[in-house]
Amino acid sequence: MSTTLITGGTVVTSTGRSEADVLIDGETIAAVLAPGSTLLGHDLAGSVDTVLDATGKYVIPGGIDAHTHMQMPFGGTEASDTFETGTRAAAWGGTTTIVDFAIQRYGERVMDGLAEWHEKAAGECAIDYGFHQIVGDVNDDSLKAMAGLIDEGVSSYKLFMAYPGVFYSDDAQIYKAMRVGADTGLMTMMHAENGPAIDAMVSELLAQGKTDPYYHGVARAWQMEEEATHRAIMLANLTGAPLYVVHVSAKQAVEQLAAARDNGQNVFGETCPQYLYMSLEDQLGAEGFEGAKYVCSTPLRSKHEHHQDHMWQSLRTNDIQMVATDHCPFCMKGQKDMGVGDFSKIPNGIGSVEHRLDLMYQGVVDGKITLERWVEITSTTPARMFGMYGTKGVIAPGADADVVIYDPAGHTSIGLEKTHHMNMDYSAWEGYEIDGHVDTVLSRGRILINDNEYLGTKSHGRYIRRAPSQYLI
Ligand SMILES: [Zn+2]
Repeated sequence: MSTTLITGGTVVTSTGRSEADVLIDGETIAAVLAPGSTLLGHDLAGSVDTVLDATGKYVIPGGIDAHTHMQMPFGGTEASDTFETGTRAAAWGGTTTIVDFAIQRYGERVMDGLAEWHEKAAGECAIDYGFHQIVGDVNDDSLKAMAGLIDEGVSSYKLFMAYPGVFYSDDAQIYKAMRVGADTGLMTMMHAENGPAIDAMVSELLAQGKTDPYYHGVARAWQMEEEATHRAIMLANLTGAPLYVVHVSAKQAVEQLAAARDNGQNVFGETCPQYLYMSLEDQLGAEGFEGAKYVCSTPLRSKHEHHQDHMWQSLRTNDIQMVATDHCPFCMKGQKDMGVGDFSKIPNGIGSVEHRLDLMYQGVVDGKITLERWVEITSTTPARMFGMYGTKGVIAPGADADVVIYDPAGHTSIGLEKTHHMNMDYSAWEGYEIDGHVDTVLSRGRILINDNEYLGTKSHGRYIRRAPSQYLI
């Protein structure tokens, strides 16, 4: 077992910061010590295998991205990052854990879907990984299987109120699934958009010749997100199921979540970097077919309605609890371009798994969130929300030594030629400049990234068996 000492840094957690040294023994954190501490009279730095100097830098728990879709089949193609390329890119950006989505497709069995995703990921991941279970066909058989998910280390499942004919669940199916969620302690995750109404609007727009990527955003109007969010909250209220709404982008949806939380309900919301930085007009509305790069669902919202500012504010006030990426990358060539002349055929998704920590750190620099809140929304809350806290999401004795050394004096220019390790032929974040830099990344004591060099392997990542949520009120 090798030992590592991180010296001279500022350890930042969700509750505070302090000057401290971090001692790592094998895969776990052994101690967080006053700077320059000795052990039984011995100088620690002289008795460990590796010393990492973090002077002037932040020492934070590794990022946890609780919403990714590596090599996910979608609309006749497949997300372009494999577990290998996607987790390596995540490591470059300081993310040491992902929770990806195993999928039960229509007509298939839940446990077969889970087994398929285990097979895709095993031995391919640079960092640790867990699974949520998408239940795409709620029926008696899947309801029974759901009750067995916690034993598989899968403590959350996801339903879709969108995508009729693919993953869509109607209200009766949602009600039945949530009953199981309430009984078993599974977290119900919800894609909250009114799919049938959206599909009707898509047909109308296409019939009018409105085929550009911009109309993807027009068709998926905020009213359809607010309505579905409200409906999900009410069904959760009725059944007593805890509810986590994924990729919230409309301020009206946040208001629904906030009202339910004020009412004492176990309701939570996640947003993604694109909803904090990008808009319907500037990105989806970009010239020609460029907007396809930014087609994701829920869609980017109008800057004139100030959803983006409201989302930053919601992160401050905890009306939104955490930030994940919904990483679902597709290349422009051969994938996004399937939707030339018909926006509804553009595969939905943006690739961000590599940039989440940096993009959220820029929020600290810009005075939109505190340093501690940065750690909370990118690591500590995801760990608690999805049953990994204590092992993940914190720098404390006994926790996995998933640690990032972040340099606030460093700089990161995001772009295809500059940072990019995701398997995509474009970057949605091309040209973004970040006033900070991921210097060193450790996963269970092993150095994955140091001084702009990748030192990981695809066999390092381990499956995480997750406990029920530790975040419930
Ligand atoms: Zn997603």
